Amino acid sequence: MGASLEEEIKKRRTFAIISHPDAGKTTLTEKFLLYGGAINTAGSVKGKANSKYAVSDWMEIEKERGISVTSSVLQFNYDGYCINILDTPGHQDFSEDTYRTLMAADSAVMVIDASKGVEAQTIKLFKVCVMRHIPIFTFINKMDLEARDSFELLDEIENVLGIRTCPINWPIGAGKRFKGVYDRDTKKVSMFQAVSVGGAKSAAETDYDVTDPALKDAGGDELYAQLMDEIELLDGASDEFDQELVDKGELSPVFFGSALTTFGVQTFLEHFLKMTQSPLPRMSDAGLIDPITEPFSGFVFKIQANMNKAHHDRIAFMRISSGKFDATKEVYHVQSGRKLRLSQPQQIMAQDRKVIDEAYAGDVIGVFDPGIFSIGDTLCTPGKKFQYEGIPTFAPEHFCRLVHLDSMKRKQFIKGVTQIAQEGAIQMFQDYTLGMSEIIVGVVGVLQFDVLKYRLENEYGCDIRLEPLPYNYIRWVKDPSTDLNKLSRISDCKKVKDMKDNPLLLFANEWSIRLMLEHNEGLELEEFRKN
Ligand code: GDP
Repeated sequence: MGASLEEEIKKRRTFAIISHPDAGKTTLTEKFLLYGGAINTAGSVKGKANSKYAVSDWMEIEKERGISVTSSVLQFNYDGYCINILDTPGHQDFSEDTYRTLMAADSAVMVIDASKGVEAQTIKLFKVCVMRHIPIFTFINKMDLEARDSFELLDEIENVLGIRTCPINWPIGAGKRFKGVYDRDTKKVSMFQAVSVGGAKSAAETDYDVTDPALKDAGGDELYAQLMDEIELLDGASDEFDQELVDKGELSPVFFGSALTTFGVQTFLEHFLKMTQSPLPRMSDAGLIDPITEPFSGFVFKIQANMNKAHHDRIAFMRISSGKFDATKEVYHVQSGRKLRLSQPQQIMAQDRKVIDEAYAGDVIGVFDPGIFSIGDTLCTPGKKFQYEGIPTFAPEHFCRLVHLDSMKRKQFIKGVTQIAQEGAIQMFQDYTLGMSEIIVGVVGVLQFDVLKYRLENEYGCDIRLEPLPYNYIRWVKDPSTDLNKLSRISDCKKVKDMKDNPLLLFANEWSIRLMLEHNEGLELEEFRKN
């Protein structure tokens, strides 16, 4: 007999892995997949040889990799759990989609390079996790290389990110002397034996009780003494594990290991799966929607227009938030008020797409978009009519003035930019005074400028020029009736409006934001805008 709906949903764990590029996200993901039996050899998640491409190669890469340039989803089973990993791309791939993916996750795993500590991109992604109050788990990776002091790393996470930490295991040595990890709960030490770096599933380990005299022989006197000192320090000084605080995203359980050698990876995965939660109720305008007792519903968090000219399709990524999705049944699209059958629903596994018949709360599926979906839209069972909370608009960090070179095709040009903005690939603004005669576009990742230019040229036949603007910060003016022309100190920044006429300001640096606030009492500026 198959599992019940409740069992299916309860065994699901849907999380995103966040990190600064090169911290080891791909390697860790691969090791998870190896444990789950989803792949057989390391190196198959994505062609890493391709990932350090120049911007100009982007279109080719996009074609080769199909949909995988922006976030994809990996699903696999492990130990009775059904795991969905949401990828958050880095490098030039970094875009608003990276942020939006976090809207679909129930928790996040933060991978930190032990020699580097907390890095810029991690901070950005972390802020979005905090906004959602989702649990955040920390994996301090690359312990097999020279690492910074473990206590210092914990301090940095606490100080820079402002979250409490609770080490679940503790490393024994680092670099060539990274010998094992101590599990603070079971008080057992796993000592690693060397493994081949490539396809090995997991490291051979020998477990010792921390009081076992054989441990001293295995680790050597010096490391043993150091471990004893550190355990004492930890027990005295660190936060205790508290599931409730973890659930609220206020305490991050911390693990140490090495994704490359697999040391500490399996124990991390197992603890993590127990400490993280199955899909939770989600807020809508009709209150919380329970994932188990409510029938099918979900929301669109990303739309991808395929760059491959052979497929002129748009795919909407939907996170199922309640019940079971059945491909044979009609669903209700709340925003358009239309009933429709979603054609060819599919699971996007790295490069592969697989058509599916059913999926459950917690899963993420891709569906063909007949051109009616927008980011944040709700799909539900006919007869229901609620809407999930919108997906916030994230602050773009790069801005260009968009100049159209052929005045004859103005209408086509406006239509093109507007549509691309609706898909969420870019954000579109107009000059505060000049209106639509000066269009400004903003993006989170600069690669999106190339996407915009390519698509305007190829799909809309528009010749354009992008003129970079010297601003990196955008703020929504909280009170939309504010007259920006009346503000003091306005010459440092650029005044714009979004397409709904909300006033915004573009700044070169944080310093000028502070100055602006100091000189305009009562002015309130916002970094995110909830739609
Ligand atoms: P990503 O950019 O975060 O996905 O990072 P990758 O997983 O691609 O790793 C970046 C580089 O670090 C690759 O060369 C990996 O082989 C290497 N790497 C990842 N994890 C470890 C680790 O635990 N130890 C060592 N020594 N190298 C690692």
